[in-house]
Amino acid sequence: MKKTTLSLSIAALLLSACNDDSSSKDAATEQKTTKAAQEETIKAKETTPEQKSEEAGKHQNNFLTAYDNIDLGQYKERVKTLSSDEFEGRSPATEGGRKTSEYLKAQFEAVGAEPGNGDSYFQQVPLISIEADANMQLQLGDSTLEYSKDFVAGTSQTVESIELNDSDLVFVGYGVVAPEYNWNDYEGVDMEGKTAVILINDPGFAQPDAGIFQGKAMTYYGRWTYKYEEAARQGAAGAIIVHETAPASYGWNVVSSSWSGPQYHLPSSGNEPKLDAEMWITLDQAHNLLKQSGLDLAEMQQKALSKDFKPVPLDSRASVAINNTIQESQSANVIATIPGKKNPDEHVIYMAHWDHLGSRPNMEGDHIYNGAIDNATGTAGIISIAQAFKQLPEAPDRSVTFVAVTAEEQGLLGSKYFAAHPTVPLNKIVGAFNIDSMNVSGRMKDFTVVGYPKSEVETYVEQAAKRQGRELRPESKPERGGYYRSDHFSLAKFGVPAVYGGGGTEYRDDADQATAAKWDAMRGECYHNLCDEYHEDWVWKAAMDDIRIFFEAGYLLSNTDDYPNWYEGTEFKTIRDQSLKQEQ
Ligand SMILES: [Zn+2]
Repeated sequence: MKKTTLSLSIAALLLSACNDDSSSKDAATEQKTTKAAQEETIKAKETTPEQKSEEAGKHQNNFLTAYDNIDLGQYKERVKTLSSDEFEGRSPATEGGRKTSEYLKAQFEAVGAEPGNGDSYFQQVPLISIEADANMQLQLGDSTLEYSKDFVAGTSQTVESIELNDSDLVFVGYGVVAPEYNWNDYEGVDMEGKTAVILINDPGFAQPDAGIFQGKAMTYYGRWTYKYEEAARQGAAGAIIVHETAPASYGWNVVSSSWSGPQYHLPSSGNEPKLDAEMWITLDQAHNLLKQSGLDLAEMQQKALSKDFKPVPLDSRASVAINNTIQESQSANVIATIPGKKNPDEHVIYMAHWDHLGSRPNMEGDHIYNGAIDNATGTAGIISIAQAFKQLPEAPDRSVTFVAVTAEEQGLLGSKYFAAHPTVPLNKIVGAFNIDSMNVSGRMKDFTVVGYPKSEVETYVEQAAKRQGRELRPESKPERGGYYRSDHFSLAKFGVPAVYGGGGTEYRDDADQATAAKWDAMRGECYHNLCDEYHEDWVWKAAMDDIRIFFEAGYLLSNTDDYPNWYEGTEFKTIRDQSLKQEQ
């Protein structure tokens, strides 16, 4: 049996199948089409087209059987269990969190997937929680800022106290160093011990038609995490991000609430520079600050849009003292695998974060953040996909590995840990699919791929979506930088081409529009809220559609020898090219 040509022909066959989901069994019999048969003739002269076609047809039938048999009842049961009060909102490093990871292990075991970390299903993730004492002030020149109202501050260093003492302030525009765009906001300034004042988002946002960066779509240079990382690389002691609602895509309340309470981090690896103080200030305070140096914020924002922008030292200095309560804890990524039969050392990865926001025991009434959509739906989704792969009579050529990560809500920590301590070499991960919060509102005409187009892995999703008559489209608000806000990004940062998608932008004509609108409203209102709870009457078929697309995309990728890469001009292509050249 010629596995390589066979795999190719499966892909060709699947490609030619373009029908609606439920009738795919009928389509299977139609599959011995002329188009596929012609390809067979070209690909394999030594066997007759009839023999090859019959072989491929069998594979096609096997695939479609597994595809059709993904069980809705079991999927619902898993979503229901994961989002039940018993799991206490699945906060990492709590009893509910431990219960969740044990449950996932049992589920992967039950569907027949093997341990993915040596002989264990667990990868322990050390976590450090740092809670800054809210009783602090930030002194900027001659103004004293009030915590939470005017500023927030913290440090990712594991220290009980740390301070900035009269640190010189420098306005660095967007604080971006992007060689591929020939852009350096730190040019000619020595930041050692100083504090950078930085605008949020990237220069493409304010002038989407100027042909710089990716226009309105946010690049990683626009994310607040990047701003701190770059300032630290420049040797700065502190960094202050200027909040502005439109370019940040959220209001000040989101900044102040998400910075309150304990913040989780991974233990420092030691070789990553870190700031002493990471801060945000309100737009009003930024106006005041620049005025103290005789500057106008609006004018400086304008200047920062140019490649010729040069950093501007301010006349004032920053002081803040941060006192922390530090606690060490542990949670686990749950990893399962289905070894490939031909190239087991090459992996297709499915990811979903299992954690959510936990509970607030001292709140009255309902106090459990059940996180049903976010992300019981996605976690249950990858178990269904593992089960579907196990329904195939034989394993795919490449290994398929499922990583249910922890501590996403605290800053993608579980996936960051996995990427820093991968259970398989990163250059042997041929592609990754991340599912975070599935669509349960209504069935879609299209399929959203966040950040689209970014990599060739998307072409596999595109093929899979065709079977449901759906085409790929980017998300409706790319300026929010959604691509940098879920777990696949932890892998992308190390060059692994990864797709994050699901749902769509347009409901099918036969979808119940009123129902869709109702669940959409719930999704919006209940995001990170107590009401993100399980509903028996969700439009479950919508989630099943997407699970099938992910299954097929991974199935196709796991049965080729193709190494999909990032498209030219994406942030991660250089890293991938370098990583592919390295020995494993
Ligand atoms: Zn979330």
